Amino acid sequence: MVKIETTEITKIKNYAIENNIPIMMDDGIDFLTTFIIKNHINSVLEIGTAIGYSAIMMALSNPLLKITSVERDEKRYLEALKNIKKFNLEERITLIFKDATDLNLDDKFDLIFLDAAKGQNINFFKSFSNNLNDKGFIITDNLSFHGLVEKKEEEIESKNVRSLVRKIKEYITFLEENNSFETKFYHIGDGISVSQKK
Ligand code: SAH
Ligand code: MG
Repeated sequence: MVKIETTEITKIKNYAIENNIPIMMDDGIDFLTTFIIKNHINSVLEIGTAIGYSAIMMALSNPLLKITSVERDEKRYLEALKNIKKFNLEERITLIFKDATDLNLDDKFDLIFLDAAKGQNINFFKSFSNNLNDKGFIITDNLSFHGLVEKKEEEIESKNVRSLVRKIKEYITFLEENNSFETKFYHIGDGISVSQKK
């Protein structure tokens, strides 16, 4: 397990809490950074930068790692830029201010990290799997969605949340049935899947 806990990281985490920004949970980050080290991941495409927290933690876990990360919310994108500068990681983390739906990249990556709009995961998985290196991985966050995915539908009051939960379930089925990838599910953080290209 990698433990990086500097004052600057604490500040980013506090900013996220104060502004209701859903950054990765501690055990999720530990899992992700350990995964990067163990699997010699040297390039990551992240969908959903928020304020750069997970990108910074990933970059700090492996000094060779290069990350491209996309965010559609301008305020968060600008905050991420600031945070990445503070850590002098501008050379290793490239931020793109864009809706990932409109993103077309030619580059190939060892790992794609899906952590954006949960209802878009199937689309993102399909479109970005072309950007994977051989035997590359796609990791997806929030498959448990604060435990709501395990709940009965009737127990979820909000219609929007119900529809989102349904989409997450559809995504899980999509992963289970996808023969081009081998997927493992982990009850870590807010629920994580690791899909490896066969
Ligand atoms: N990976 C971050 C947290 C990301 S939160 C961390 O753990 O530190 C999810 C982010 O995805 C939000 O900031 C949201 O604005 C962004 N997002 C959602 N849908 C998106 C899309 N279609 N394109 C780009 N960004 C998107
Ligand atoms: Mg997340």
